[in-house]
Amino acid sequence: MTDSGAAYDRPAQPDVERAELRGRVERFVRARVIPYEAVLDAGGPAAASALAELRGRARDEGLWALPLPAELGGGGLSFAAYAELAEAEGASDHGPAALGSAPLLDVTMLGRHGGARVREEYLEPLVAGELRSCYAMTEPDIPGTDPFGTTTRAERQPDGSWLVTGRKWFTSGAAGADLVTVMARTGGLPGDREGLSLLLVPTGSPGFRVVRELPVLGATGQYEIELDRVRVPADHLLGAPGGALAIAGERLALGRTLRCLRWLGQAQRAFDLMCERAATRRGSRGPLADHELVQQHVFDALLALRTTRPLVHEAVARIAAGQDARTEVGLAKVAAARMLQRVVDSAIQVHGAAGLGPDTALPALFRSGRAARILDGPDELHITSVARRVLRDYGGREPATRG
Ligand SMILES: Cc1cc2nc3c(=O)[nH]c(=O)nc-3n(C[C@H](O)[C@H](O)[C@H](O)COP(=O)(O)OP(=O)(O)OC[C@H]3O[C@@H](n4cnc5c(N)ncnc54)[C@H](O)[C@@H]3O)c2cc1C
Repeated sequence: MTDSGAAYDRPAQPDVERAELRGRVERFVRARVIPYEAVLDAGGPAAASALAELRGRARDEGLWALPLPAELGGGGLSFAAYAELAEAEGASDHGPAALGSAPLLDVTMLGRHGGARVREEYLEPLVAGELRSCYAMTEPDIPGTDPFGTTTRAERQPDGSWLVTGRKWFTSGAAGADLVTVMARTGGLPGDREGLSLLLVPTGSPGFRVVRELPVLGATGQYEIELDRVRVPADHLLGAPGGALAIAGERLALGRTLRCLRWLGQAQRAFDLMCERAATRRGSRGPLADHELVQQHVFDALLALRTTRPLVHEAVARIAAGQDARTEVGLAKVAAARMLQRVVDSAIQVHGAAGLGPDTALPALFRSGRAARILDGPDELHITSVARRVLRDYGGREPATRG
């Protein structure tokens, strides 16, 4: 893979060790993960055994769980340090699972907001890849963009435990998960701004059921789940009752930024495929690369990549510094999702029919780009919330003083 679009806009050059680590991650994803993508995409037992093999290799090569805390068995990289290699790791959708960084969001959330028992029982096995977790907020019958409508309920029992009842969908990875964090109403009525809590539900509990798989443009991995009076121990409530939205906000900021980094890696991959194709496919008048309209695709894709990368790293920097990053994350999320869709679309166009066929990763990358504009909040949600936040700063000023 060449790096013609990547080399200049990254943050300050890391030290030699970090650059070396990033190179090793990049080589691992390219040489080991990408060749297995078709098997991993198909799911089932063959995918499970391929993933186990890749994880074993990642451990052997010292690349396992790099951003997870060292005291839990991870590599102990800070978020800022991990951000330097997350793009390379995320060039394949399967990179984070193969390299053990996929539980970063859950481990961060449970480490900060789980009680002593939750932390002791689950964190190390999650980092080791012995347990898997997922996150269920979106429901079939209410807009996911409006969590106040949440209808899943958790009712407190006399012994302090909770009985959770409801239905969620598009819960990524629910079928193989041992734990699911569920957003449920512990107080108030659907529509109320208060009364939403997060509970950590062991999926082996009676009353928990995977209802069906929901293929996304043909790809596996999303599920509808049902909870029918599932008993959850008192100490499996995360944070305080009614504290769901603050915890979810923190999780989403980190999660959206991680996705943006991975989408940059995927777009870079599509860009490289496009340029290689343009340079090597020849007609009677020379290579495709000689056509100005093909050059336009290359230019526009490179511009999209280069203008998005700094936005994503601005969000990373603010999160790493513990600053309010809502505007930066919103800008990065919309820009990165649009950019991925656009770059992959150009790469498909330059490939012609081959771009739609089974011989390149482009159809899968296109699927990621399309889903990117909806998952973790659709574009519209981020556009309106960023614009409102910005406009608030102008409230009350005379137009003339704005300049
Ligand atoms: C691949 C994939 C993985 C996912 N993984 C998970 C997961 O693991 N856990 C989980 O809980 N959820 C998950 N989701 C669900 C995802 O977070 C929701 O789909 C998303 O938040 C949007 O909610 P919704 O689908 O209910 O759309 P709705 O809220 O019904 O919105 C539909 C459309 O209405 C418009 N709209 C909505 N709000 C506004 C607004 N404020 N202004 C203007 N227009 C608006 C937009 O066009 C939007 O696309 C996943 C989704 C996908 C596709």
